[in-house]
Amino acid sequence: MVTSSYPPETAPELESYLLSNIKDWSILNGLAVRPSIDLIPLDVDPSRSLAITAPVTLFPSLFPSACFSEARAIQQAYNELYAAIARDREWLKQIVERLIEVDDFIAKLWNVHLEVEKEGYVQDLSLGIFRSDYMIHKDPEVRDAKSTIKQVEFNTIASSFGGLSTKVSQLHSGRYLNSTTAYPPSSKEHINSASLPENPTTDSLTNGMAFAHSAYGPSKSSPELPLCILFIVTIPESNIFDQLALSASLQTTYSIPTFRLPFSLILDKTSISTDENRVLLYSPPHSPDSVYEVSLIYFRAGYSPSHYPSPASWQARLHLERSAAIKCPSILTHLAGSKKVQQELATPGSPHLTNFLSRTSSADMIDRIRNTFTAIYPLDATPEGKHAITLATDPSTSANYVLKPQREGGGNNIYGSKIPAFLATLGDDRQKWRSHILMELIRPPTLRNKIFRNGEVQSGEVIGELGIYGVCLWRNGHGEAGGKKAGDAKDGGVLENREAGFLLRTKGSESEEGGVAAGFGAVDSPCLVDE
Ligand code: ADP
Ligand code: MG
Repeated sequence: MVTSSYPPETAPELESYLLSNIKDWSILNGLAVRPSIDLIPLDVDPSRSLAITAPVTLFPSLFPSACFSEARAIQQAYNELYAAIARDREWLKQIVERLIEVDDFIAKLWNVHLEVEKEGYVQDLSLGIFRSDYMIHKDPEVRDAKSTIKQVEFNTIASSFGGLSTKVSQLHSGRYLNSTTAYPPSSKEHINSASLPENPTTDSLTNGMAFAHSAYGPSKSSPELPLCILFIVTIPESNIFDQLALSASLQTTYSIPTFRLPFSLILDKTSISTDENRVLLYSPPHSPDSVYEVSLIYFRAGYSPSHYPSPASWQARLHLERSAAIKCPSILTHLAGSKKVQQELATPGSPHLTNFLSRTSSADMIDRIRNTFTAIYPLDATPEGKHAITLATDPSTSANYVLKPQREGGGNNIYGSKIPAFLATLGDDRQKWRSHILMELIRPPTLRNKIFRNGEVQSGEVIGELGIYGVCLWRNGHGEAGGKKAGDAKDGGVLENREAGFLLRTKGSESEEGGVAAGFGAVDSPCLVDE
């Protein structure tokens, strides 16, 4: 899809005008990040007060309109799917049990669930803020094949960039650049109000959080306490303005007090009431005499083993999980997002997708979800696993695959020709092999665009990754065998389920990792085109 006329040519004066608009608008509107220590060393900014523009594309990237609509149209069914998985404790158990010996992190997460289950859950509601990530795929075997979407991964914890994605759409859109003279007249053919969709992500996510907050009900304390939402975060956090876009909206639109609590201070700053309600109480350090009751815990930390440096960190996760606050996500929802679950759904011939969705979705919708899967295999002793080991150890076939450990957060994948040598370093330890999945590579068409990051313009061939957000609030049916009863209800136990906006991330086509925060890509917005 490299289109010679896109992005439009910009004379140097026009490009510098465009850049000054991007720089100033970004800071004015919080399309910003805190710089890394490498870029601005501590001695230059000891109080870490400086912020810089978030990496963005100069132009919205061309994206096939039909793929964009399809990704959004199937998100509610994807939400149903992951709510159903999170609720099915028996199914998750047999997945997790296969990972426990090989993956300490998964084992510890599962342990938190077991501990709370022993005592009994006091909160039956779970909130999911999901993001399903896709790349465009064209079947190389078929002439003039149409573009389709293929899923990269499904995120169930700390699905980030919702705040910045709304802003980059505003920047590129008629609200700003396209209504100034910063884009040349020749760009109007592509960039116009019909081709740049409104991006409702920030409002949709906070609307879902506010919905969960009110579903929590009135204070369970006596005397009643004011309610609040708690963001669990890491410090320092370079992507803080993305998070603040959400907390600001919760405070200004919904008047919900919202606080940021570093993961490392959970046990210090929160406590649980000693009665059977197990209410989570929070005293802000700046106002130790005031006490809030936490309605919703929103995790923007806790997805990586590095967030758990000590046994106390696991105590802290358990402490939150056993409380009455609604968790976004619950431990079981977090586990449902593991790459192993994605593999179980997408291994050729797997019955699980249909089993999970047949009650709530049509056969057509189930097919549309399945069409987004690429083949994903375990590396174990099953027939599929043995087939995968053959594919992965031969350089001529491994070139079409990516090997992933059960980890979130970027930087962990092994690609193509490097897979056989990597597996050789694992030796005969089959347990280590089993902690990975093998996934067919998606090869999206390359486009041209320019990226502005850390004050420099990079220009060249890029590829995009589209994320679709989903918000879902459901009952787990804790206390019922396997959560079955709530799941059997006509609504599948679901109280709220919405597609919640989108994110386009764009990276150089040569780089292998797409995370903007990881330092390789930019936030972008789609400029829809018909194929
Ligand atoms: P993480 O949990 O680290 O975000 P991902 O599964 O999203 O893990 O992989 C990180 C990046 O690797 C993705 O953003 C994408 O750019 C690339 N990637 C992952 N899977 C594939 C695939 N099957 N084909 C092509 N690129 C992939
Ligand atoms: Mg990812």
